Amino acid sequence: MTNDQNFETNLLWEKAKTIYLSSLLSQEDKSQVERYFSMISSVKRDGNTITIITSNQYAADYLKTNYSDRLKKCLELISPEAAIELTFDYQKTAPIQIQPARRMESSFSEPVRRSTFVSTIPLNEDYTFSNFVSGASNSFAIAAAKAVVSNPGRVGYNPLFIHGGTGLGKTHLMQAIGNELKLNRPEMAICYLTAEEYLNEYINYMKEGNIHKFREIYRSVDILLIDDVQFFQKGKEIQEEFFNNFNALKDSKKQIVMTSDVAPKNLPASIEVRLISRFEGGMLHEIESPNYETRLAILKKKTENSDVNIPDFALEYIADNIKSHVRAMEGALATVEVFLSANKDLILDKNILNQILDDFIKKEVTYRKLTIEEIQKACAEQYGISIEDILSHERTQTLVTPRQLAMYISRKYTSKGLQEIASVFDKKHATIINGVKTIQQRISNEPELKAKLEDILSSFGYKLSDAMD
Ligand code: ADP
Ligand code: MG
Repeated sequence: MTNDQNFETNLLWEKAKTIYLSSLLSQEDKSQVERYFSMISSVKRDGNTITIITSNQYAADYLKTNYSDRLKKCLELISPEAAIELTFDYQKTAPIQIQPARRMESSFSEPVRRSTFVSTIPLNEDYTFSNFVSGASNSFAIAAAKAVVSNPGRVGYNPLFIHGGTGLGKTHLMQAIGNELKLNRPEMAICYLTAEEYLNEYINYMKEGNIHKFREIYRSVDILLIDDVQFFQKGKEIQEEFFNNFNALKDSKKQIVMTSDVAPKNLPASIEVRLISRFEGGMLHEIESPNYETRLAILKKKTENSDVNIPDFALEYIADNIKSHVRAMEGALATVEVFLSANKDLILDKNILNQILDDFIKKEVTYRKLTIEEIQKACAEQYGISIEDILSHERTQTLVTPRQLAMYISRKYTSKGLQEIASVFDKKHATIINGVKTIQQRISNEPELKAKLEDILSSFGYKLSDAMD
């Protein structure tokens, strides 16, 4: 395959991926799909056959079983001229090597300056600071990330913990730190991994009976970037290992940066308290949803290098209608781009835009950012009780019904995960699951309760049918 073809294939894949990701509603779905997508090491095309190559067989099988149909549809949407055959394969990645510069120094010559990058996943070169649009929703996080770049390991910024909903730019910002340091501090050993990959690494080294090697690698990096630490839940041993690694790095003034979809205090209960308090021990910043101006600026940035000329009103239309997260905007933008390049003579207007983006806009309605607190308040008001009653553990039926209703709405009409809901309600997971189930059963038998639910929903501009799957 020539470079050009390679580029085309990658572009095709990137677009299909964007459209696919932006079509998912719940945070959990997205995080899961992203985890598997992050195990894709390359994409090849031979005629109409596209092969997705992953770093392990399990991921290849999993992607094939679970995502192949919908991915195929996305690819065909972009490349409509031919039916696409989608296959999956795997290639074991080369083992990670680390040679920090200081070990190569010799007293006879200048220290060898070479960048040392430790990761099973390459950094995305587009994820730079200059490609990251600043706005009120993220300016503190950007400032902290830049401070880390100019002075890694600095007191008060270690660790840097960035949290926020899916698709708001956490990975981009974290990789921008990595990319910038790679460029300007080539002597530094930089490590970027997702928590999931860190876990896999640990298991692999364990299996080989080579745990000291694992420690040697992960304790000798100069900066450790760990994405999506909410997935750190499995296993006591790995948490112990990470705890020790964390302390070792911090003690030697090495920088640690982490991202998560929730604040440390809302991380799953299965993550040890001592780890959570370590996560909170440095600088904490949230990335929020961008406002209209920032959304528009992001869209403009994303079209800077595009071959297709997208009129301003189309960008404004997207910024106006797609507000939930940046990835959804990118999906809408990619869809418009694809449409325009397939229909070169067409003059775009609002009606056409409305049609092409119909799916995206419909999803937005259900994705509107309802907070759990808002829901609790609405349920309390509807039943004439207080927020304290909702949060209490008292089990009289007059309190249990509105409380469970609030749980039900939080679960079915927001993209919040179970962990977060349980934490805001100050209840166990099982209590939330039970509450949701109870209401589900009751509304099919009790028209009065159903009417109450509809009332509360309509106060948010929702209908019963807006529930997520
Ligand atoms: P997260 O890790 O929070 O789920 P990502 O970092 O993967 O989100 O971002 C999703 C997409 O949105 C990426 O393509 C990223 O480049 C883009 N994006 C998010 N925020 C911004 C921003 N402020 N400026 C430019 N692009 C952004
Ligand atoms: Mg991410």
